[in-house]
Amino acid sequence: MNNKVQESSIKYEARREFLAHCLPKTRLLQEPIFDPYLVSGHPNPSGLGDAARFSQTGSWGQSSVLFSDLETYRTADKCGKAPYGGAEYGIPQTPEADAVCKKIAALHNGHGAVICPSGLSAIGATLDAFSPKAILIPDNVYGPMIRFLNRRRIEQIRYPAGASADEFHSALLKARSKYSECEDLLVYIEAPGSGTFEIPDIDGIIAIAQNAKLRTVMDNTWASHIRFKPLEYGLDIAIQATTKYEGGYGDTPSGVVIAKHPEDLKIIADELRATGNGAVAPTTCSRIFHRIDSTEERLNQHADTAKRLIDWFLEKPFVTAVLSPTLSNSPYHERFKRYFGQGNGLFSVVFHRDLPVQHVENFVAALNLFWVAESWGGHLSLVLPVHAKREFTPLPDGYILRFHAGLEDYQDLLRDLNQAAACLENSAI
Ligand SMILES: *Cc1c(COP(=O)(O)O)cnc(C)c1O
Repeated sequence: MNNKVQESSIKYEARREFLAHCLPKTRLLQEPIFDPYLVSGHPNPSGLGDAARFSQTGSWGQSSVLFSDLETYRTADKCGKAPYGGAEYGIPQTPEADAVCKKIAALHNGHGAVICPSGLSAIGATLDAFSPKAILIPDNVYGPMIRFLNRRRIEQIRYPAGASADEFHSALLKARSKYSECEDLLVYIEAPGSGTFEIPDIDGIIAIAQNAKLRTVMDNTWASHIRFKPLEYGLDIAIQATTKYEGGYGDTPSGVVIAKHPEDLKIIADELRATGNGAVAPTTCSRIFHRIDSTEERLNQHADTAKRLIDWFLEKPFVTAVLSPTLSNSPYHERFKRYFGQGNGLFSVVFHRDLPVQHVENFVAALNLFWVAESWGGHLSLVLPVHAKREFTPLPDGYILRFHAGLEDYQDLLRDLNQAAACLENSAI
């Protein structure tokens, strides 16, 4: 026991004595919590009535954090941290959130991390925290981020999805001609990018950005910490939608921001404290905390199944291309090997341009195991049309579907594709 706990235990005795003379109703509420150190500040540690079923797992839904005295509270309020872990108020950051952030930060070799209620809110919190006037983004950036940038009126200066160092440099010069202050600009990478999976020269971009003393941020959702560690490559900040592979079962809406430098972490944490946007249910945090341990195993299975599905599509006359950097004929395959090594469950299929749209949609409708759904990274196989707009590289002609290979047996998935393809094989193309 440390000194704090002992101090608290003195108070514990006084409270026990007082409670001994209280009415049953008061005792029922107060007895479980008179030593906040023993219950991590949870107002409802053992649960009352129906809440008991949920309370065992942690501080689920508990907003207040309790303090034994004013002085402890004042100290906690000043630094935004409770002595038991978590924030001084349960909404911005719970002890479960702290635990998951610590674990993820260690996996990334970062100074620390924060967690947000979604991947998009993690991106938003980062941008709000640093409030750049303009941002350098790849052409294939996660679509909803554009809406965020538009609403915040952050100028978007784009570079090609699979940019070389020179191409990135041209975009940077354009940005620099308008914004001379380093703090006005942010360099943003997402690789492989959404929907079409191009990969830029990440090393080249980092070197140029560092030379220009610009802060660098990477959306690392595709890779997760298993395939790529942005901070080890020299990026300042990594963002991951833990909604995807870390949670793994479609039931952990959340996103993390991992910072390399203590000062950056403080800026982002202050932002979340100011906005209250760090509120993530402790059950979600607990799920992520445990499931991170199986991310690699799941990711390898997703990748293995995706490879089998890709091979199936490549043999079909109604398919013109499969977009995946894992393929040796992909223009991004060399970079893929250098940075990521292995794939994940994602790939996109370009259907023959002469194939009537209705036939492709009939194919989707005939699938039994592949669900039409947004997001990815979970146990179920999914399919969704890709409607990407690219400023630099036009998309291939033809209907594009993005697939996510789930954790089902690949033989069942192939059987499903085969039966659904019957409606395409008779198409005249
Ligand atoms: C899904 C995704 C996000 C956003 O995550 P949400 O939790 O769905 O908000 C951000 N970036 C990438 C690359 C994604 O795929």
